[in-house]
Amino acid sequence: MPLLVMKFGGTSVADLERIANAAQKVKREVARGYDVIVIVSAMSGRTNELVGWVEETSPLYDAREYDAVVSSGENVTAGLMSLTLQEMGVPARSWQGWQVPIQTTSQHASARFVDIPRDNIDQKFAEGMKVAVVAGFQGVSPEGRITTLGRGGSDTTAVAFAAAFGAERCDIYTDVDGIYTTDPRISTKARKLEKIAFEEMLELASLGAKVLQTRSVELAMRYKVRLRVLSSFEDSDENSGTLVCDEEEIMESKAVSGVAYSRDEAKLTLVTVEDRPGVASAIFGPLAEAGVNVDMIVQNISEKDYEGRTFAVTDMTFSCPTNQVARARKAMEDARANGQIAYEELVEDTDVAKVSVVGIGMRSHTGVAAKMFQALAAEGINIKVITTSEIKISVLIDRKYMELAVQALHDAFELEAGA
Ligand code: ADP
Ligand code: ASP
Ligand code: MG
Repeated sequence: MPLLVMKFGGTSVADLERIANAAQKVKREVARGYDVIVIVSAMSGRTNELVGWVEETSPLYDAREYDAVVSSGENVTAGLMSLTLQEMGVPARSWQGWQVPIQTTSQHASARFVDIPRDNIDQKFAEGMKVAVVAGFQGVSPEGRITTLGRGGSDTTAVAFAAAFGAERCDIYTDVDGIYTTDPRISTKARKLEKIAFEEMLELASLGAKVLQTRSVELAMRYKVRLRVLSSFEDSDENSGTLVCDEEEIMESKAVSGVAYSRDEAKLTLVTVEDRPGVASAIFGPLAEAGVNVDMIVQNISEKDYEGRTFAVTDMTFSCPTNQVARARKAMEDARANGQIAYEELVEDTDVAKVSVVGIGMRSHTGVAAKMFQALAAEGINIKVITTSEIKISVLIDRKYMELAVQALHDAFELEAGA
């Protein structure tokens, strides 16, 4: 039997009516002759609520218990989706991660897949079941504890199942009708793309475009999964939505294909750090051990006079997600207390956002950075930190200018106009 993976995100299963709407789409594919694996997210808002409860109970929580709590939202929707399908006369059954079992690493809250054995689900398909409904976002560690895959992880569950079961396609149903040049909720001028290259989507996702989890794009690229994003609120056919595919399948030749933003960034500066070999490692080692995802790093070397002698010193600035600032601060204070590092002060700026432009066309176009900085300057937006790679440029700016910056860059690179 040909097989499809259909993933429904939080807003697509937000209440019983929407679950019924999603189930209708599944039923239609079954009627077309497909076996279907449905991956569901928690009802919208539910995971945030669960995370909030964990943080309120224990600010520097045990990640194993975090996973035990936050994975539960998906269990509810998996059962409800299966019941809804059964009521519609479609033979369906639900699976929680551990029942498959979806084997992952034991990195709680950001676990990775190790293996997805097919036997259990294949056997049920062989017995006449038409739809396997699997709770997204979760798995089980070698120690037998429940794990989660990081926020947005149901996308990755979907792609991993598509790869493991050799699905014809992996359809990600969400609340927008495809992938746009930027978040359509931020810019009304955003343009829907018919296709986007894996590498560009990978950058956009890792820079904050949460329409797909980064890891899902990585897996799709590696296992050649046909990955599509489309709306769960509209009728669709094989050509609906946006296809994520190889670069060669794409005709557009612009320098920049998309603008991404990440709202919840924080900038931390360690003031007056000694400038000597080993200092960066003494700072970023403890941060990594504490599970802080450091993103941008800048170092400003200067000189300081002390008791008639001149010392080379540096201010080390780095960015991380706002919800990791407490962890970062503790890691730095501990490292200072046990003599690993010395600094005068840790300055925290939690009102920043990251805005990035992305495009494989940057490899062959010059002047992209200049154009980006000009567009921001014209709006009076000050740049705090800059990082670049082959196909992206990111800047850290005051959060209050984030939307303005996205719109200014979308205009400057003429993304509305089309290829
Ligand atoms: P789901 O709950 O279905 O997983 P998400 O909220 O995780 O949905 O992702 C969909 C959201 O991603 C959209 O509502 C949109 O606001 C946002 N988004 C950000 N960047 C983009 C983009 N470039 N194209 C489309 N949507 C985007
Ligand atoms: N429910 C989880 C989250 O909100 C996983 C997902 O929706 O993909 O992050
Ligand atoms: Mg999502």
